[in-house]
Order: sequence, then structure tokens, then C-alpha cells
Amino acid sequence: MSPEEFRAAAHQTVDWIADYLRDIRQYPVLPDVQPGALIRRLPKSGPEHGEPIEAILEDFRKLIVPGITHWNHPRFFGYFSISGSGPGILGEMLAAALNVNHMLWKTGPSATELEQVSLGWLRQWLGLPEAFFGIIHDTASTAGLHAVIAAREAAGAGAAELVLYTSEHANLSVDRAALGAGVGRGNIRHVPIDDQFRMRCDALEAAIEADLAASRKPFCVVPTLGTTSSSSLDPLPEIAAIARRYNLWLHVDAAYAGPAAILDEYRHILKGAELADSLVVNPHKWLFTPVDLSALYTRRPEVLRRALRLDQAPAYLQGADGGEATNLSDYSVSLGRRFRALKLWFVLRYYGREGIAEILRGHMRMAREFAASVQADPRFKLAAPVLFSLVCFRLRSSDEDNLKLLDRVNSTGRAFLSGTQLRGKLVLRLAIGNIATTDADVRETWDLIRSCAP
Ligand code: PLP
Repeated sequence: MSPEEFRAAAHQTVDWIADYLRDIRQYPVLPDVQPGALIRRLPKSGPEHGEPIEAILEDFRKLIVPGITHWNHPRFFGYFSISGSGPGILGEMLAAALNVNHMLWKTGPSATELEQVSLGWLRQWLGLPEAFFGIIHDTASTAGLHAVIAAREAAGAGAAELVLYTSEHANLSVDRAALGAGVGRGNIRHVPIDDQFRMRCDALEAAIEADLAASRKPFCVVPTLGTTSSSSLDPLPEIAAIARRYNLWLHVDAAYAGPAAILDEYRHILKGAELADSLVVNPHKWLFTPVDLSALYTRRPEVLRRALRLDQAPAYLQGADGGEATNLSDYSVSLGRRFRALKLWFVLRYYGREGIAEILRGHMRMAREFAASVQADPRFKLAAPVLFSLVCFRLRSSDEDNLKLLDRVNSTGRAFLSGTQLRGKLVLRLAIGNIATTDADVRETWDLIRSCAP
């Protein structure tokens, strides 16, 4: 592709992106497609000869876009929302152009250092200790895997079976991290929750004691700040005290709710996090950064590094040593690294701390107002406290009615909600998190929900 051909196609592409972001409400949030629809429309084999970029862009619009679930839609309320904000998209575009792989400092000095700087800014905004070392992963799942690998290293070698503790409401990624790090399937304890969906400390201690009595080795506990189902907060200071007493690695999953601590009035949610061995927060959830970007912080980077050390530096990396510089791949299972920090840096600079705080504050206000509407309608009830920007609610009638309601709302394409189970009942989740969501979006979604109620 010649530079001039690239320029022309890039202008067209950027025009498409700008129109898309402007007109996004014209798209159905969920596509009306059946499984296999795209596969049937695309050729069975790749082209023998190259095709013009115009044809590819045309097929992108005609064939690909109709099968897109629009995570960037202001009425995408299904999962913890992901906003590819304008500055984030620009950062992503430039990262693709630079195509940096900063496995070592020398292979990406700016990328390595921008990762440290941007995670340093975010760390300060969250009020986390300066000693926390930050590294970017694709997802909280991968970040959690690294936390458990470090926890296993910290536990040292021993005959006893290692046991990990998390709550019944932890994200599935915690189990996956444990499995990936070699923890036995039967050694993952799902500690019961209380009536506010928080890990019960008495049950945690009892489980630890039972494992010790059976000569197993408790080694790691993973509380969640902002659980997936209800956004509940596990009692971090108390769990941190238990972790200290039993010498457990404390990994905090703040993937969704972590950014709320940027607001002075929510700073308290991270109380106890200063004692954590590691913590994850996902800018690709509620910090307007295009997927993927997950920030792992650890107070003990040397343990992570030790866990992943090689006896000998491979020959093919010789000569690439950056001296005293940090080589980020020393702290990660993957050697290659995308230049993800660029998009985060664009977002943090473009909005600033105060700007981000205002948007998050607005999301939480909209969630509270939506919850008030739910409470004012006798057919509905709230199913969990509204702590952040997630509202869990249900019709007072049967699970079948709630499922019908969910299907009806989602099949309109005008909004997308998800479902979960709380106290054994089907509950609808409305998670506000898109940067473009307005009061009108939330109000009209409530009207839609009421009109779809069976
Ligand atoms: N932790 C929590 C609380 C989540 O809600 C999620 C996903 O929704 C995850 C972890 C996993 O995040 P990721 O998709 O980045 O692995």
C-alpha cells in the first residue's frame, strides 16, 4: 500500500469512524443475526490475488457491521460498559501505526516508560502507595493469573496443597487464574456471602482453619471491589487483616469499580488496598479506554519477576539489554507487548482527573435516578444496593416474566441489558458506563422497560 493510497483510505476510514460515533444511536445495540450468518456470506478460502481497499471497506460496512454488538453504544447497559472514547481511539490508531513491541526497554523505550508514567498517574489518582509497580495486561483475567503466579512463588515450595480463597460472587476469571497457575480444582474456595453479597469474614477464617487442620496450605485470597453480579464490595480492611494473620497473598479485584476511587468521595472504597500484594483495575471497563487494557499493580514486583525468571537469558535477546532499564517482559508470561499505554495516556490527558471524575459522578447519579424510578413503580423492585453505576432490579413476579422482559427489551435493539441471579432469582442488570450515555438514554430505557413488562 503506497503512502498516498494509505492516506486516501485512512481519510475515508476516519470519516466512517466519526460518522459512526455521531450516529451511533441509529444502530441496534444488539444485531438481529443468527449464528453462522457471516460465515455463510464470506468466501470459504482467502483471495488468491489482492483486492482493492475500497472493496474491503465496502464489505466491512455491508457484511461486518450488521453483525456487530455495539459495545460503544450509549445504551449498551449489559456488561460493565466499554467506551472507546475519541482520544482512546486515536491512541489505538497511532499504536497500530507504530507497531511497537516493547518486550524489552530497548525494543520500545517510549512505550516502556509511558506504561510506567501513565500507570503512575492512575495510581496517584486512585490514592495507591508509591511503592506499587504497575504493568499493563490485556485483561483482568491475565492480570489475575500473574497475581496468582506471584502468590504461588511467595508461598514457596512445599508438599502441602495450595488453597486459594475468593467469594461466591467473584468473577470467573479468579477461578481461571487459579487453574492457570496450577491450583487444584478442588482447592479453590468460594467463601459464602452475606445479605449484601459481600464475602463473609467469619466464613473465610473458618475455611482457612479447616484447610490448615487438613494440612493444606492457604496461600492467596482474592476479594472483589465491585462484583460482576451486583457491584458489592468485599470488606477489604478486614480481609487484609486476615491475609496478614495467615500470611496470604492479597490480590484485590477492582477491575470494574476501581476507577470510582478517583473521586474524593469514593476514595474510601480502596481502604485496605494499601496492604494488598497486588490489585487490578480495568481502564477498558470504566475509564473510557478501548478494549483491551488492564492495569496490574503489585507491591512486590520482585516476587513476580522471580516466579518468571529464566536460568539463562536466551541467546537471541543478547545485545538488547537496556542496562538498568526495566524490561517489562521480565514480569509477564508473554514476551511480546502491545503499546497499550498510548491510548490510556491520551485518555488521561484529554479528560484530566477532574474531567473523568465528573463523568463517573454523572454515571452514578444516573444510576441512582434510574433506581429511584424502579422503586417508584410497584411492579418492580431493586435487587441490590446501588453502590456505583450498576442497578440490579426485577419485576416482583416470576423469573419467567423477568426473562420475558429481558428478551423483549433486548430484541428491540434500542437498549441492551443483561441478567444474573441474586438470592436464587433472575435479576436484570443495567450498567451505565459509556461515555456518551445521557439522561435521556437512561430515561427512555426505563420507559422501554416499562412498556415491555409482561
Ligand atoms: N473482575 C470483575 C469484577 C469483572 O466484572 C470482570 C469482567 O466483567 C473481570 C474481572 C474480568 O475482566 P476481563 O474481561 O478484563 O478479564
